[in-house]
Amino acid sequence: MDLNFPIEKNFRLMELQKKALNKLGIKTIEDLLYYFPVRYGDTSEKRNIDDLAVGGKAVIFGKISGLKISKGFKSKIAMAQAQIEDETGTIKAVWFHQPYIAKMIHEGAFVRADGKVSERRGELYLSNPKIETIAKLPIGVGDSLFGEDDETHSLYPVYPESRGITSNWFYHAIQKIFSSGIIDTLEDSIPDYILDKYNLPSLKTALIWIHTPQKQDHALSARKRFAFEEVFFIQLQKKKDKILWNKNPSYVIEKTAKDIEKFVERFPFKATEAQNNAIDQIMNDFRSGHAMARLLEGDVGSGKTAVAAATAFAIVTSKPKGQTFGNLQVAYMAPTEILAKQHFESFIEYFTYLNINIGLITGKECRKFPSKVNPKTWTKISKPQLLKWVANGEIPILIGTHALISKSVKFKHLAYSIIDEQHRFGTTQRQKITRKEGLNPHLLSMTATPIPRTLALTVFGDLDLTLLDQMPSGRKPIITEIVLPNERENTYTKIKEKLVEGRQVYVICPRIDEPDLEKESAIIAKSVKEEAERLKRDIFQNYEIGILHSKMLQGEKEDIMNDFKAGKIQILVATSVVEVGVNVPNATVIIIEGAERFGLAQLHQLRGRVIRSNHQAYCYIFAESKTEKTMQRLKAFKNSSNGFELAEFDLKLRGPGELSGNKQWGISDIGMEAIKNIKMVEAARNEAERLLKEDETLKKYPLINEKLLQRKSAEIHFE
Ligand code: ADP
Ligand code: MG
Repeated sequence: MDLNFPIEKNFRLMELQKKALNKLGIKTIEDLLYYFPVRYGDTSEKRNIDDLAVGGKAVIFGKISGLKISKGFKSKIAMAQAQIEDETGTIKAVWFHQPYIAKMIHEGAFVRADGKVSERRGELYLSNPKIETIAKLPIGVGDSLFGEDDETHSLYPVYPESRGITSNWFYHAIQKIFSSGIIDTLEDSIPDYILDKYNLPSLKTALIWIHTPQKQDHALSARKRFAFEEVFFIQLQKKKDKILWNKNPSYVIEKTAKDIEKFVERFPFKATEAQNNAIDQIMNDFRSGHAMARLLEGDVGSGKTAVAAATAFAIVTSKPKGQTFGNLQVAYMAPTEILAKQHFESFIEYFTYLNINIGLITGKECRKFPSKVNPKTWTKISKPQLLKWVANGEIPILIGTHALISKSVKFKHLAYSIIDEQHRFGTTQRQKITRKEGLNPHLLSMTATPIPRTLALTVFGDLDLTLLDQMPSGRKPIITEIVLPNERENTYTKIKEKLVEGRQVYVICPRIDEPDLEKESAIIAKSVKEEAERLKRDIFQNYEIGILHSKMLQGEKEDIMNDFKAGKIQILVATSVVEVGVNVPNATVIIIEGAERFGLAQLHQLRGRVIRSNHQAYCYIFAESKTEKTMQRLKAFKNSSNGFELAEFDLKLRGPGELSGNKQWGISDIGMEAIKNIKMVEAARNEAERLLKEDETLKKYPLINEKLLQRKSAEIHFE
C-alpha cells in the first residue's frame, strides 16, 4: 500500500461506492486517511432494550432487521418500520412520514437509535428515532450475540456519508490502512519544535487519535493539530506569495492627496472620511515603488466604486517613466456583465470632463466612450479595434468581465488592476489580472463580504487591509423587522403600500443545505418558482413578479435583472446566491424567508441590497421558528448594522459553519475549527512568519516545500 495509490488498488469497490468516493473528492489512500469523522458517538450512553420504559428518550445499540415500508391503518400515513435487537431484547422502531428510511439502512446493519420510547396496545416502540449505522457494537452488546469484539473504546467515529458509502465503510477502510503499517512511514511536515511548543501530537499519533480516539481529549487534541496544520500552511503560502510580490518593482505614481482632491470634489456627494482614508493609503502605496496588494473591504453601499475611480484617476493622469506623452492604464474587472456595465456608466460620469477614453469588454460586446459622433455617449466597437487601442495605450481605462483577462487583451502600460467582488473570482483569475507585460501593476481587490478577523488574517494573509467602515451620510438606516408567522398578513399590507408608492421588492427564498449541490439548486429553483406563483396568486396580484435562481442561464439572469432595474418587474423572487453588487436604487424592500437558516453575515449582505438610495429601506426577516437561540441571533441582526460585528457574533454563537460559503475560502471543515480560535490563528501566523524570516526559500524544510506545492496544485485543480 502506498499513500498515492488510487483506492481501487487496495479496496474492492462497487460502482455506487466509486461514484460516492469520487463525489467526496477521495481518490487516493492519502485522501482516505485525511477524511475525518465529523463527530464521535459515545457508547457509554447506551441503554439495554429490556430496561426501556414508556416516556423519555433513550439511546440503544443493536442489529436491525425486518425493515419495511407501510401505511398507517387509519391515517394512511406512509412510514418505515423495523426491529432492533440487542442481547437483552427487541424493540420496534417506527418512522412516520419517512418511508425512505427503510431504504437507507441495510438489513442486518448495526445501528445506534436515539428516540422517544412510546407505547401502543401494550407494546413499546421507538418513535421517529434518529438512526445511524455504526462500525461496531459497544462492549456488552456484542459479546454473545454478534461475536468478535475485543476493544473497549466507548467512542466511535461518525464519518460524513454520501449515497452509496457509509460511515461504517470508512471506519473499516481506515482500519485496513492502519494495519498496513503505512502510517509508520509518514514524515511530519510540521517541525518538531513547533509541535512541542504548542503541545500538538505528531502526525502519526494525530491520525490514530482522530480516527479512533480512546477519549474525547485525544480527538480534540488531534483535531487541533490538523486545524493548526491547515492554517499554518495557508499562512506560509500567503506569506511566501507576499514576499515574492514585494520583490517586484512597480510604477511610482507621484501624485499627492491634493492632486486627487480636485477629482473627488467633483463627485455628486461628499466623500466619507473612510473613503478619503482609503484613497490616502492607496496613494501611499502608489508612491512606494513596490506593487501594492491591498484589499478594500466595505459593506455594500459603502462606496467602493468611488475609491476605485479616484485612485484610477491618479494613474491615468500619470505619464510612463521618462515619457512626456501618453498615460498609464487601469484594468477594472467585475464578476458579471451587469456589474461591468454599471461601473462603465459610473466611470463615464466621473471621468467625462477629462476627455479620457474608457473601454468596456465583456464576452458579448465591446464599447468605447466617447463616441466620435456624439461625444456625450458611448458607442459599440469591434473587439479587434478595442484591443488595438488598449495595446497602443489610447484607451487608458478598460472595464470588463473576465473577458478582460483573456490572452488577447494586451496593455501598453498597465499600472493598476482593480478587482470588484473579488471573492467571486478564483485564485488563477485573480493572478491573471496582475500578470505583467512590464512592471507589476498595483492591485486593489474589493469585497463586501464581512468576515471575522481570524478568517481575514488567514485567507488574506498576502494582502494589506483597508476597511471602509463608514456609510455615506444621509442614508437612513434600514428598518429591520422580525416577522413571526402570525404577522405575515400585516407585513404584506405594509409592503403593498410601498409598491403603490412605486418602490420595488426583493423576496429571498430560504437557504437549503443539501450535500448534493445539483439537488440543492434544483430544490431551491423549485421553491423560488412556487413562491413566485403563490405571491402572484394570493398576495400581489397586481404586480409583475420575476424569478432568479442559479439553474437559469447567465443570459436569462441578466435579462431578468435588466427588467428589474428598468422597473418592468416590481417584485423579484430569488435565491440567496443572486448577484449582490447590482445597483437598483428603487428596490427598497427585502423579504428574507426562513431567515434563521442563514448566517448573520449573509443576512447582512442580503439586506445590503436595499441600501442603495435615500428612500427609507425595509428588511423583513420571516422566521419559522422562535427558539431562544434563533431570537437572540435575529435580534442581534435587527440591532446591528455592522457586518463584521455580526460575523464575529455568529462565529461565537454557531461556529464557523455559519460563515457563508465555507468552501469559498478554500479551507476545510477542520481548518475552519481554527478560525474560532484567535490564539491558534496568531500562533500559526507567527510561526509561519518566523520560519520565512529565518529561511525565505525554506530550503531547510523540504517537506514543507513539498506540501506547499501540493496545496498549490490542488487549489488550481479545484477551480
Ligand atoms: P459598493 O461599496 O457597494 O460598491 P457603490 O460604490 O456602488 O457601493 O456605491 C453605492 C452608491 O452610493 C452609489 O450610488 C454611489 O454613487 C453612492 N455613494 C458613494 N459614496 C458616497 C458618499 N460619500 N456619499 C453619498 N453617496 C455615495
Ligand atoms: Mg460595488
